[in-house]
Amino acid sequence: MKIDLHCHTTASDGTLSPSELVKRAALQQVAILAITDHDTTAGLLEAQPVAEQEGVRLIEGVEISTRWHGFEIHIVGLGFDVTHPAMTALLTQQQASRESRAIAIGEKLAKRRIEGAYEAARTKAGDGIVGRGHFARVLVERGIVRQPQAAFDKYLGKGQSAYVATQWCSIEEAISVIHQAGGVSVLAHPGKYSLSNKWLRKLLGEFKAAGGMAMEALGCQQSPDQRRFLLSLAEEHELLISAGSDFHQPGRWIELGRGLQRPEQPGVWHHLGWV
Ligand code: MN
Ligand code: MN
Ligand code: MN
Repeated sequence: MKIDLHCHTTASDGTLSPSELVKRAALQQVAILAITDHDTTAGLLEAQPVAEQEGVRLIEGVEISTRWHGFEIHIVGLGFDVTHPAMTALLTQQQASRESRAIAIGEKLAKRRIEGAYEAARTKAGDGIVGRGHFARVLVERGIVRQPQAAFDKYLGKGQSAYVATQWCSIEEAISVIHQAGGVSVLAHPGKYSLSNKWLRKLLGEFKAAGGMAMEALGCQQSPDQRRFLLSLAEEHELLISAGSDFHQPGRWIELGRGLQRPEQPGVWHHLGWV
């Protein structure tokens, strides 16, 4: 049984609509799926009836950006009430920060003689939430970089010329709101923040102290050593484990549910009684 509790749709910076994403998950034999768009739960409404048709168990999800010692740390919420006022208020505030960040990124790129990037990224996002992923695709399409990752490495990533530090909420606030709405708080992709092991342990310690419940230990693009390391960190900090591909678009390396068979370790799936 495959479980994928981290992926994106056109409601944020994914390229598949919520319906397309659920159908793809069903084809990949994902039995339990959470759509975790950046700071929005807007994809759920469209995804729910399709998930019922396809026999996929759909879990409410969101990926909240937070600020921690100058790093952008992502906290996933799972299985919460999407209409809870604390959650809708936080997401509205986050979406406003995201929009101002996008405008500021556009201004920084214009100084690098890349004109109209905000408008192009905004158009790409459609009705959805605009993110750096949209800027990355604009830069690829214009031939400025070859791969989306290169757009982050050269322009959009931390310390690069079009990086904008954003006023995200704190880790504590994200956790508190997820719990108020009845959900489980998960530290997303701990291996992707380029933190030293010392800082990673500090992050996990503070996440746990703030009431954080789980961390993603299973991804679809990790070596056996990386996986073992993350599983041992979860055990060390007494966190439940979670699993997610962080799928954004069809491609060669990342696929919904890939490598995400339910393991024996106690995971959010046991805790929430999904299996
Ligand atoms: Mn993204
Ligand atoms: Mn993330
Ligand atoms: Mn993500």
